[in-house]
Amino acid sequence: MSSATTTDLRQAVEDTAAYLYVWALKDIPQDLRDALAAARERETSVSGRRVLEIINRNVGIADDEKNLVCQDTGIAVYTCHVGEGFPLHPARIYEALKAGTERATVEHPLRSNAVHTITRENTGPNTGYRLPIVHWEFVPDWDGLDVKCVPKGSGSENMSFLKMCVPADGVKGIKQFVLESIVGAGGKPCPPGIVGVGIGGSADYAMYLAKEAIARPVGTRNPDPIVAQLEDELYDLLNETGIGPMGLGGDVTVLQCHIEHADTHMTLNPVAVNYQCWAARRATAHVAADGTVQYDREA
Ligand code: SF4
Repeated sequence: MSSATTTDLRQAVEDTAAYLYVWALKDIPQDLRDALAAARERETSVSGRRVLEIINRNVGIADDEKNLVCQDTGIAVYTCHVGEGFPLHPARIYEALKAGTERATVEHPLRSNAVHTITRENTGPNTGYRLPIVHWEFVPDWDGLDVKCVPKGSGSENMSFLKMCVPADGVKGIKQFVLESIVGAGGKPCPPGIVGVGIGGSADYAMYLAKEAIARPVGTRNPDPIVAQLEDELYDLLNETGIGPMGLGGDVTVLQCHIEHADTHMTLNPVAVNYQCWAARRATAHVAADGTVQYDREA
């Protein structure tokens, strides 16, 4: 495979970002559609079922009208897996993602949510200082680039929580904190959604892991069986709270609970919770070294 010129590759990444941001906002993945349809079937409360019927109808209308599934265009968050042989430096990849985010916002047009954190003045078309947010992973022996766009609505992002448990708190402490967080959040993060839990690492890394967890296909399980078992237990526990769709009471409080973990210091036990509302938007593309792009609905 021949490499594209740096200019062509930068343009390909910019076009990819512009496409991914809008695509993610309009066309939610099939695994999420299935989870929302299954939730409607298993909800027994009248108000909860009505909410889920409206949500499912909303998704269909967005398809028919080619419109957004929710008006909150979120904060643009990208995760990049960069192969060591990908012929565009991450500094240029970042520039391209920023330009693509701006183009999508202006050309669609999309609501621009970006503000200076003190003055609250708009800083640009969903861009600003350190916006969009980009997470990086580097992959040896590969020359491609994977970009995942996860526009994050503020209603659910505001329901993010971190606790530095002590090791003696153990798994019981982790469960208790996740439960308290979700009960405290109630209807604010537009449930039923995906509860992302990050455990281990450090304070900042635990929150990053929680964010990674919400971006997985709905219902996938952590490859570590001990962690997967905790996902199952938390999923059941959270659905016993009775918070229900939009906090109006019911059987379905969460569509799933996903956990990502990292090894940690012997005296640390960080736990982070990041809520993803029902509009769990995500879209992925694979960019090859020659500039060809493949979009992936399932990743
Ligand atoms: S939390 Fe999600 S569903 Fe609720 S308004 Fe924000 S993006 Fe929309």
